[in-house]
Amino acid sequence: MAPRALVAGNWKMNGSRQSTRALVAALRQAAAQPFRAEVLICPPTPLLAEAREVLGEAAIALGAQDCHAAASGAHTGDVAAEMLADLGCTYVIVGHSERRSDHGESDAEVKAKAEAAQRAGLVAIVCLGETEAERDAGQALTVVGRQLAASLPEGATPANSVVAYEPVWAIGTGRTPSEEEIVAVHAELRARLVERFGAAGNDFRLLYGGSVKPSNAVAIMALPNVDGGLIGGASLKAEDFWPIVEAC
Ligand code: PEP
Repeated sequence: MAPRALVAGNWKMNGSRQSTRALVAALRQAAAQPFRAEVLICPPTPLLAEAREVLGEAAIALGAQDCHAAASGAHTGDVAAEMLADLGCTYVIVGHSERRSDHGESDAEVKAKAEAAQRAGLVAIVCLGETEAERDAGQALTVVGRQLAASLPEGATPANSVVAYEPVWAIGTGRTPSEEEIVAVHAELRARLVERFGAAGNDFRLLYGGSVKPSNAVAIMALPNVDGGLIGGASLKAEDFWPIVEAC
């Protein structure tokens, strides 16, 4: 049986306490009707507590956008996975391409962060994806395969890890790969997961992310080996995000 789809909203560095209250309240209202996918929101760290409070008992999970590899210590400005768990998070995104490019995060660092998430009992959403130059050079499958091998920890299981394929050139650009290109990358990731983890490799959820919106969500979410989406811009408005949840 296919794993339950996950639709994760990555708010990035957007929002205020007031806008968080309004957006979460709107999502709560939408979630009062039956829906099938698992839904997750990942607000910026300072807004997690506000979101947690407004979520109440709604069937929407809370996650963060990054964590440090260490559990505590002299790491000014950083946040431990344990702190996120304490705030009510159950997920954390690691290795988003904006972290990899803005902060020079390597696969090894991403792997250490995913291990920290496991240690704290959080599910890690491990992001990977090729740049436009890498795709143009015909290296997309090699690049994502290498990133998967080096970013996903040994202790990864379908219960503690999710893999998100996000082509760098599709994030926030309005451009998406063709359906064939998405299918090819997800098939490659699936094959590598099965090669490494055996039959359990079939149960890891593989998300697609990069310019998903209501108008393309139904087609993308129906593709083989696409088990949900990581949604940036369209997660900032309930009227854009919820149709994507319904597309799953
Ligand atoms: C993202 O930031 O993970 C993302 C997919 O962004 P967008 O949906 O805006 O392309």
